[in-house]
Amino acid sequence: MNSRLIPVSELSSAVRCPVRVFFDRSNPWVEPSEYTICKQISYHLGGRIERDEVWEEICRISPGIDLSYKSYCESCIDQCDSQEWREASEHDLFVKSDHFGICGTIDRIYTEEPYFSITRSVRPPVYGISPGDRIRVLGYALCLSELLGKDVHGAAIDYIPSGKSRYYEIQPRDMRMFYSIRKILMNMNEGGVPKKTLRAPCEVCPYQGRCDPGPTRLSDYF
Ligand code: SF4
Repeated sequence: MNSRLIPVSELSSAVRCPVRVFFDRSNPWVEPSEYTICKQISYHLGGRIERDEVWEEICRISPGIDLSYKSYCESCIDQCDSQEWREASEHDLFVKSDHFGICGTIDRIYTEEPYFSITRSVRPPVYGISPGDRIRVLGYALCLSELLGKDVHGAAIDYIPSGKSRYYEIQPRDMRMFYSIRKILMNMNEGGVPKKTLRAPCEVCPYQGRCDPGPTRLSDYF
């Protein structure tokens, strides 16, 4: 087994484009303001959400935040206030699986099933959850299973901007996706360079322009 544990966030990112993970590894992550806000609101779910208190915390955490984000924060709180939330027993639990060679930090932990939830600063897809979130659920579930000593079958995804929480139960196809993505990342750990995939979202990627576009037509692969 490769000695560097692969972060679950990298697995999720590699679902969209493994080349992007290659670039991300040498570029420090800059936390978007939307994430700072949604993450901070998530600590208050399951109890009364005091707007001024949350906003003050956000301003302390991110002193340079543009004040125009206050209305975004209030809109997220409005959406979350209209739903029932479980109170987490723990936040930000670091977990790892030596067996699968992965690690990560789980946003919210509960004493009853589903045992965890993941905080997202985006709106949910029309149906189900995205492939990137499917592999997040699987990755954290594998790690948490090792910690708890029992099977973890799924998790909730908390979409803070829309105040929705969606449960996802892990499917066999997720484990197949996990093995193929992990293989690419383990190869990268050994110095390999990943290839662009057919569905790489280059048009919305910050590395567009720095990245060799590679094959652009299916016929280029043959
Ligand atoms: S520009 Fe395209 S191929 Fe390159 S990292 Fe971004 S998504 Fe991947």
